[in-house]
Amino acid sequence: MIIASLLLLASFKSDLVEVVDGDLPIVITAPHGGVLPIPGADERKDTTLPQFVTVLDTRTDDLARETAKQVEKEFGKKPFVIIAKFARKYADANRPAKYGAESEAARLVHAKYHEAVRKAVDGVKSKFGKGILLDIHGQGADKETVFRGTQNLKTVTGVSDESLFGPKSFLGMIESQGIKVFPTMKDAHEKENSKFDGGYTVQMYGLGHQDGILAIQLEFGGTYRTVKAIPETAKKLAAALKSQL
Ligand SMILES: [Zn+2]
Repeated sequence: MIIASLLLLASFKSDLVEVVDGDLPIVITAPHGGVLPIPGADERKDTTLPQFVTVLDTRTDDLARETAKQVEKEFGKKPFVIIAKFARKYADANRPAKYGAESEAARLVHAKYHEAVRKAVDGVKSKFGKGILLDIHGQGADKETVFRGTQNLKTVTGVSDESLFGPKSFLGMIESQGIKVFPTMKDAHEKENSKFDGGYTVQMYGLGHQDGILAIQLEFGGTYRTVKAIPETAKKLAAALKSQL
């Protein structure tokens, strides 16, 4: 009986976190696009916890999947992908567990998500020495803008301006394909929007740490993640990654 319930729990956990093992130095994460409940977990309700937000980043799971598909098309190889299928109102994967999970069931799923991201980043590090992590989000503050979040460049520590913002850089390439990035390449050292300046994922797995890789949070405005726009946005992201690697 105990074994049966453990197996059941294990299967719930794996169903709630979508993981693709890659063979490129690219990791794509999407913590806020899921809609599924976590069995055994209530909706989060402790509004006194720091950064308490439960809102869904609509279709960012689809944008992450489509980006992975376009990357595979461009490179002939797969990126690593970790997507939360569980809803943010049950667990927030872009917060430390102590803020993002309020029950044991939620903590297990949160841990599952982060074990997968850690494994992907470690895999990229050991095989390629370096790599890039894109943490995909959505925001409702400005439809036309993608807010860059790097903790004001902390999660991209040690990378040259040319590699980060030059015409051949990932960010430079998405901007030149018509995606409005803030801060712009021209004023790349301008302060990031404090609401979207890079959460737990880029902080944990970015170049702020020895074992990190170049990590950028991208907060997409609605224009870039309509059902119709997603393939085009994904294609641009893949093309920009191609130029970078
Ligand atoms: Zn988000």
